[in-house]
Amino acid sequence: MSVPKLKKESEEVIKIEKRVGEKPILFECAWEVCNQVGGIYTVIRSKVPAMVEEWGENYCLIGPYFPQTAAIEFERQDDDNSIFSETAKILRDEGFDVYYGRWLVTGRPRIILIDFHKHLEKIDSIKYELWENHNISTINCEDLVNSVLAFGDLIKKYLTLFAEKNSRKYEIVAHFHEWMASSGLPDLRLKGVNIGTVFTTHATMLGRYIAGNVNDFYEQLPYYNWEKEAREYGIEAQAGIERQSAQRCHVLTTVSDVTAKECEVFFGRVCDLILPNGLNITRFAATHEFQNLHLKYKQKINQFVMGHFFQSYSWDLDNTLYFFTSGRYEFKNKGYDLTLEALKRLNFKIVQAGIDTTVVMFMITRNPVYSIDPQVLQSRAVMEEIRQTVESIEKEIGEHLFYASASNDDAKLPDLNQFVEEYWRLRLRRTIQTWKTKTLPRTVTHLLQKPDEITEFFENSNMKNHQQDRVKFVYHPDFISPTNPLFGLEYSQFVRGCHLGVFPSYYEPWGYTPLECVVRGIPTVTSDLSGFGDFMMQLMHDYENVGVYVVNRKEKTFNEAAEQLADILFKFVTMSRRDRIRQRNRVENISDVFDWTNLRSYYDTAHDLALKKKGIGKS
Ligand code: UDP
Repeated sequence: MSVPKLKKESEEVIKIEKRVGEKPILFECAWEVCNQVGGIYTVIRSKVPAMVEEWGENYCLIGPYFPQTAAIEFERQDDDNSIFSETAKILRDEGFDVYYGRWLVTGRPRIILIDFHKHLEKIDSIKYELWENHNISTINCEDLVNSVLAFGDLIKKYLTLFAEKNSRKYEIVAHFHEWMASSGLPDLRLKGVNIGTVFTTHATMLGRYIAGNVNDFYEQLPYYNWEKEAREYGIEAQAGIERQSAQRCHVLTTVSDVTAKECEVFFGRVCDLILPNGLNITRFAATHEFQNLHLKYKQKINQFVMGHFFQSYSWDLDNTLYFFTSGRYEFKNKGYDLTLEALKRLNFKIVQAGIDTTVVMFMITRNPVYSIDPQVLQSRAVMEEIRQTVESIEKEIGEHLFYASASNDDAKLPDLNQFVEEYWRLRLRRTIQTWKTKTLPRTVTHLLQKPDEITEFFENSNMKNHQQDRVKFVYHPDFISPTNPLFGLEYSQFVRGCHLGVFPSYYEPWGYTPLECVVRGIPTVTSDLSGFGDFMMQLMHDYENVGVYVVNRKEKTFNEAAEQLADILFKFVTMSRRDRIRQRNRVENISDVFDWTNLRSYYDTAHDLALKKKGIGKS
């Protein structure tokens, strides 16, 4: 199986002559370098080992300096006498807080971290220049935009100085991810700084905003006026920086064909290349190992489910499937609306078919909460108490039974009941009694600051974890972390323990969550409007057979898509365990395709193309 071929036009442009002289230098700049916010951090961090393999010491990242993260992930090295640290030192001498060192992640790449806080004093002149030189309006923008502008201006200063000192000896490429790092890019081009520039947008600001608010985004897409929409959503600064960066860079790229269409409309430029997202994939030597991990973490999830539901009623956990969805709280963009509707229909389908399988659906996202619901914690704690009591009884019986058996002359088995003291019997009975309740298990694990569309759905659809419901809901409005007492799992372990990931997004330039399922051997649902889904459809025809289900949201109405998803889920519920195991093997088998050692070639092409275009511009 091979990665789909790049577009023909780009193939023609990129016939690069063999380089002479020193190997070029590559800078990769992003707000999420050494600063985890969302999916872009995953892109950059997971790609580092593959980039270091190709570029070695000629690779350097640039990101923002935040003391807390830097204390963990950054090792400052002022004195390594490299051209990278020299430039940082000159800027520091001029009063700018620019630090050089190593990013302490696999690959230990060179890194420049920029503390932009002091530079905020100059924000007015930075804004004036953006308006004067590039017509980018930044008045009345939010604080985050100010930070981004100060950060972007210092990146520009660093790269300008670096190029002044080194571009006679080295060719230089600077790769900017998103508008949050690229506000200095238009000026680099305007001033003719001798650097090849690549701009990658991982979404468009306008796309994200509009898609979240209308139902006909894709139908209307060709007709949007970017300026009008930017004004309407109050994002003129962001959209302006994005558009200018896209128009000025040597090479414009995005992560999927889906987003490339938005770029054409909102940026007025056709993308030169598509750079799909990958992961740093480590596969187990023994193929069954990931199946063992599924079992191990499923048992952890079983513990949660017992603590959460069995207080009210119980069922056969061996005949239970765990589905989940996860990501930012973007109800419509992430397809949470479709997922909920499909699950309601699935519930009906399972009941109608008289199937006794139970589905527990986990909704993992982030919305403001006060705390974990004390009732949920209490139930979990009492169940732990039951477990401890049972373990004590087990131990007591064990010790007595051993003694009785060893000293038994007539080989008759003793009555086990006699070994449990009245104290333990009473304690167990009491604990069970205080635990059991007639109230329904909570649909939400936390106390939300205010109701949201998900809780509204539970109310309106009466999906409230009734005993007769075959689909149960656990809405966890916080990301999963090992310190969270409910699961005690890392997010990746939680994914492994589930049976199916459900991500039928409406707006999703790439979407790491389904890909993260694939590489852990967990089947997943995606949509043809997501970059990952679109990529899978181009990659192979039998994606469904390998465990990647695609909901056709492009062509279908909401209602039709909900029915298609409900059918997919129902089919999955009726699969035998043996077939599910086989499917897990098949899905895990395709994970190599997404390894950065394969997908880095797309980045290599972009960087080569930037150098080539820079050369053409000079002559
Ligand atoms: N994620 C996480 N913990 C959670 C849920 C999600 O770390 O409890 C991560 C997940 O691993 C993924 C990212 O959040 O890498 C979401 O990225 P995606 O591309 O799906 O969406 P984006 O945030 O870019 O819209």
